[in-house]
Amino acid sequence: MPLLFDPVYIVLLVVTLGITGWAAWRVRSTYAKWSKVDSGLNVDAFDFARRLLDRQNLADVRIEPTPGQLTDHYDPRGKVLRVSTQVADASALETRGLAASGPRLSVAAAAVIAHEVGHAVQDAQGDTAMKLRMLIVPAAQFGSGIAPWLVIAGVFLQITGLAIVGLIGFGAAVLFTFATLPVEIGASGKALAFVNGLGLVGEKQDGARDVLKAAAWTYVAGALTALLTFLYYAWLIFGRRD
Ligand SMILES: [Zn+2]
Repeated sequence: MPLLFDPVYIVLLVVTLGITGWAAWRVRSTYAKWSKVDSGLNVDAFDFARRLLDRQNLADVRIEPTPGQLTDHYDPRGKVLRVSTQVADASALETRGLAASGPRLSVAAAAVIAHEVGHAVQDAQGDTAMKLRMLIVPAAQFGSGIAPWLVIAGVFLQITGLAIVGLIGFGAAVLFTFATLPVEIGASGKALAFVNGLGLVGEKQDGARDVLKAAAWTYVAGALTALLTFLYYAWLIFGRRD
């Protein structure tokens, strides 16, 4: 029976798209809301990042702009904190005397930058969860790339061994999505402590927490959909009776 017309597959597709769609909508709407609210911290995005890094004795971490929306990240190999143009633009425009699209440093931008500084701190501290996640990366790349095709080929051609190899490979990808959770939640915990220490209080503190929480849900959604897909593959291999 073709996979595409499998009702269980349709249910899986609807559920996983629902979960990831909801998480993506939530992070975008929360970010949009708090990117209009000024943090009250009288610095631009890059100065803010520099200040946070220096306070954590991370003067060696460089800061660079990177194109896109919500593309902010910390690169542990190059020791670079990349700030998205979306986060940086408002402050850069204001500095040049042009009309800014939003506040100089919004609550959302402060939260995102603080989160990335959280990753830089984890890296400097040799965080166990971060190390574990990096260890799984090669297996996870294999798992999310070729492994599903091995499962499908194995099931269709009825070569159970091939399907099981694919399932184990995909299992590594699932493990990676779960190993990501403590790293991301840990970085957000550090981020909240940073922004509180800098005087982001009251409603703005709640806003920063909302932004970080919404971002965390996207990782939970990713782990959940990976697990559901894994269970579907396992059912295809071991559970089908038709
Ligand atoms: Zn992160």
